[in-house]
Amino acid sequence: MEAGPPATGRLLEIPALFSRQMKTAYDNLAPHHELVSRIRRLVRKAGYPLIFTQRMGIETNSHMCGTSVAGTDPATSVLDASCRSHDVGNLSLADSSFFPSSAAVNPALTIAANALRIAERIAAPD
Ligand SMILES: Cc1cc2nc3c(=O)[nH]c(=O)nc-3n(C[C@H](O)[C@H](O)[C@H](O)COP(=O)(O)OP(=O)(O)OC[C@H]3O[C@@H](n4cnc5c(N)ncnc54)[C@H](O)[C@@H]3O)c2cc1C
Repeated sequence: MEAGPPATGRLLEIPALFSRQMKTAYDNLAPHHELVSRIRRLVRKAGYPLIFTQRMGIETNSHMCGTSVAGTDPATSVLDASCRSHDVGNLSLADSSFFPSSAAVNPALTIAANALRIAERIAAPD
């Protein structure tokens, strides 16, 4: 399960260096519970009577994104839709920071595809 697009799923507080104190608000637990319960039923039907599940906490996060969100409004975003800085001339960012919200799925291919898109735009003559 990953945090979904609503702002409530975002990291609410930047942790102090080396601190594990982070506040998050999970906004999509209902579909997660539904998925776990369906998989339990399937696995039990397949003949396994004992099923254990373990939820991973924020300490195992691996798809961090959105620290320089892209958007149309400079008041609420760092980059424009082409991943160009609203504030700093000739600065573009092409890493996972551009995500306006978590995709809730593995992001690496989207990051790579977006980087290629940005590179084409940068290489194109004005
Ligand atoms: C354990 C784990 C498993 C994952 N599994 C998957 C998966 O299965 N599928 C998937 O799609 N995604 C997966 N991800 C997520 C994916 O790896 C990241 O979202 C993606 O790599 C982020 O890309 P990025 O370019 O933003 O940052 P990175 O890939 O982290 O690249 C940042 C680069 O910038 C360099 N750098 C940092 N600071 C500086 C600096 N000051 N000067 C110069 N260079 C600097 C770093 O050395 C690094 O090479 C996983 C992540 C983790 C941690």
